[in-house]
Amino acid sequence: PGIAATAKAATPLEALTRVWGYDAFRGEQAQIIDDIVAGRDTVVLMPTGGGKSLCYQIPSLVREGTGVVISPLIALMHDQVDALEQLGVRAAYLNSTQSIDERRAVEQRLLAGELDMLYLAPERLPVAQGLLDAAPIALFAIDEAHCVSQWGHDFRPDYLQLQVLGERWPDVPRVALTATATAETRAEMIERLGLHDARVYVSSFDRPNIQYRIAPKQDAKAQLLRIIRDEHPGAAGIVYCLSRKSVEGTAAWLQAQGIDALPYHAGLDARLRAANQQRFLREDGVVMVATIAFGMGIDKPDVRFVAHLDLPKSVEGYYQETGRAGRDGEPSTAWLAYGLQDVVQQRRMIADGEGDAQRKRNQTLHLDAMLALCETVECRRQQLLAYFGEQSTPCGNCDTCLTPPESYDGTVPAQKLLSTIVRLQRERRQAFGAGHLVDILVGADTERIRTQGHDRLATYGIGSDLPAAQWRGIVRQLLAQGLLKVQGEYGVIAITDASAAVLAGEREVRLRHEAKAPAKAQRRSE
Ligand code: ADP
Ligand code: ZN
Repeated sequence: PGIAATAKAATPLEALTRVWGYDAFRGEQAQIIDDIVAGRDTVVLMPTGGGKSLCYQIPSLVREGTGVVISPLIALMHDQVDALEQLGVRAAYLNSTQSIDERRAVEQRLLAGELDMLYLAPERLPVAQGLLDAAPIALFAIDEAHCVSQWGHDFRPDYLQLQVLGERWPDVPRVALTATATAETRAEMIERLGLHDARVYVSSFDRPNIQYRIAPKQDAKAQLLRIIRDEHPGAAGIVYCLSRKSVEGTAAWLQAQGIDALPYHAGLDARLRAANQQRFLREDGVVMVATIAFGMGIDKPDVRFVAHLDLPKSVEGYYQETGRAGRDGEPSTAWLAYGLQDVVQQRRMIADGEGDAQRKRNQTLHLDAMLALCETVECRRQQLLAYFGEQSTPCGNCDTCLTPPESYDGTVPAQKLLSTIVRLQRERRQAFGAGHLVDILVGADTERIRTQGHDRLATYGIGSDLPAAQWRGIVRQLLAQGLLKVQGEYGVIAITDASAAVLAGEREVRLRHEAKAPAKAQRRSE
């Protein structure tokens, strides 16, 4: 509880130095804070670690009344309030994890004017409206404001109610903040929150100390181990996996290799989860193997690498997750391994998943943008920043800048692959997945090939000039380029409208050469 009797401050700079002990504002913090203090609405787009919190915390101390922060991160409210109280700021939260008595005590403090800041879960807003009417409100801060966008990757229906803030309290300034927003998400955010007159602050999203690398998946765990041992021995890192099972498998495997790795996913016992998180935060050199449930709001400055063993579903997600590396500004690595199975699996998950056609279309567009980033021969950072509407030049600190990929004319291999699929489709019997297609092309002698009589296809063995691994890479690249698609629940590979031009010899296909798997990794392929 409060060290100082009150934390209210005369000026923003006084609050910064006295309460936080910092000397100067960073980037556009000072202008943003001045705007809010003057009662203007603002929209703040700033990357993770950029210093968004101070933008609403300081005006809450300078303006009369209580600063109300709407945040979807209920699990973090307790820690955030604790941290503020340590600084002498009178803060509290209201969310659905509290008992009625606990909530009532907070309400009393608010009404008595004893709170500088109140954190509020969005679902509490409808019931809290009367309460907020009765107390002087300094400002509304809408944290993670991209959650209001249905186009975005993180939509929360509760956020749609937030438009009431501007209608019911027109004189209270609002500030919407997010670390991730494309032009579409930004426009939807401003529209839905009614922030047309707000001043919009966009900081650069560049994180120059993060080296972005995206590699074809060969033996992902062995590839990861090499990075840990060769580049970041004994350092803290986060390894993201798609499933709980692979989280546990990967953590156990890394432990067996002598790495201080811990698992984290929503299915773990809550106490174990909390204990693992504490070890990651407090000790040096812990590698957290986790689903994307881990990391929101985690502020650990010296995370040296973030690795993805599975393909993220969107560029926004990828950017947010990799952004947890290197908050201290020191050189850090963002490494992602992805392979054919990732593409097939994600396309299937979209096809079989819940939601209407519009939702599936959105998911497909998000995945396509992610795949374009994976397959690009241009600077990764340039493409990443362009996705968030920022122009830049090649960075010199990503894999494509450091070792420019060579591309080759892949029209003939593409034609071989496409015509094999056309022939199979003409048989009208059964459709096949990627593995079987590659078997036909390289002329493999498998049980399935023989029973299906596929050794008698005209295209059987026409691709034996290339190894199977390269064919898998070609299938993956054609999927990413929209020249192939995945159909149905069995991951059947089919041609698309765009492939006709390739088959007709009217369209060239550019493919990128991929580094051969090191001998060690080749034995156990994906
Ligand atoms: P974000 O919410 O944008 O991810 P935070 O608000 O958590 O970022 O800030 C990231 C870190 O930078 C925090 O540790 C914060 O205390 C620190 N910080 C923010 N602004 C300043 C400043 N003006 N001077 C020094 N440190 C700052
Ligand atoms: Zn680059």
